[in-house]
Amino acid sequence: FDQRDGWIWYDGQLVPWKDAKVHVLTHALHYASSVFEGERAYGGTIFKSIEHAERLKKSAQILDFEIPYSVAEIDAAKRLVLEKNGQRDAYLRPVAWRGSEMMGVSAQHNKIHLAIASWEWPSYFDPAQKMKGIRIDMAEYRRPDPATAPSTAKAAGLYMICTISKHRAERRGYADALMLDWQGRVAECTGANVFFVKDGVLHTPIADCFLDGITRRTVIDLAKRRGIEVAERRIMPEEMAGFSECFITGSAAEVTPVAEVGSYTFKPGALTKTLMEDYEAEVQPKAKAA
Ligand code: PMP
Repeated sequence: FDQRDGWIWYDGQLVPWKDAKVHVLTHALHYASSVFEGERAYGGTIFKSIEHAERLKKSAQILDFEIPYSVAEIDAAKRLVLEKNGQRDAYLRPVAWRGSEMMGVSAQHNKIHLAIASWEWPSYFDPAQKMKGIRIDMAEYRRPDPATAPSTAKAAGLYMICTISKHRAERRGYADALMLDWQGRVAECTGANVFFVKDGVLHTPIADCFLDGITRRTVIDLAKRRGIEVAERRIMPEEMAGFSECFITGSAAEVTPVAEVGSYTFKPGALTKTLMEDYEAEVQPKAKAA
């Protein structure tokens, strides 16, 4: 992935993709002092760019560092890299991390870097498979207790268990893995939040020990706009037997129907389809009011 053509915004400069490198003694590489975002541009407009930039700044603060760019500067940098790469529909990956000045757990004064890449990434899951609903494995690992890890930050370190879980799921023939939380309740997938449907009501776990996704919040708003009842609550895995539909949400995954989670099966249905379509419409650039 590092040998592509294109441009990456790196500490205030646009640099050729292949030259956007870090040193092996980068603090982030050793101690996971890194936070990132994942977002999409549709028709040349980055969906909820400001919210993503705010979350990036917040994630860094939770990890005890301050990104040396404002939300407005990050937003402008994202737009610049998109334009330089000539992309209208693309995925953007801002990443901020501690540099290599000092080696050791403490690195109070290491330089904070920010880089932003963008590339075309049409569908997170295979499109043909997507309409049938993806198959999800149960993960071995759980989302950590908020008293054990900064669970609500979009921090690289928290993705270690996501990668292990997703690899295991893929080896077992699944598209993704569902993780429980530290108390054994349904939490989220390795890069997406999860929703269920029962009797016309949308159910989703309370995001108190995992990422409260921007897509998750958007879908909740879209559902409420349609008068669909949304229950944010604690969901035990056994309850999955009683849900008729299931889908996952994320900037990359968008709204993706689910056919199976472990031994539980679902039928992608009317409510999932409605919210998929509403989300597709919502992300399109809005015509400016006259
Ligand atoms: N949970 C995890 C672990 C994620 O990586 C993501 C993707 N950023 C999400 C949830 C969904 O978040 P969002 O809708 O903001 O992309």
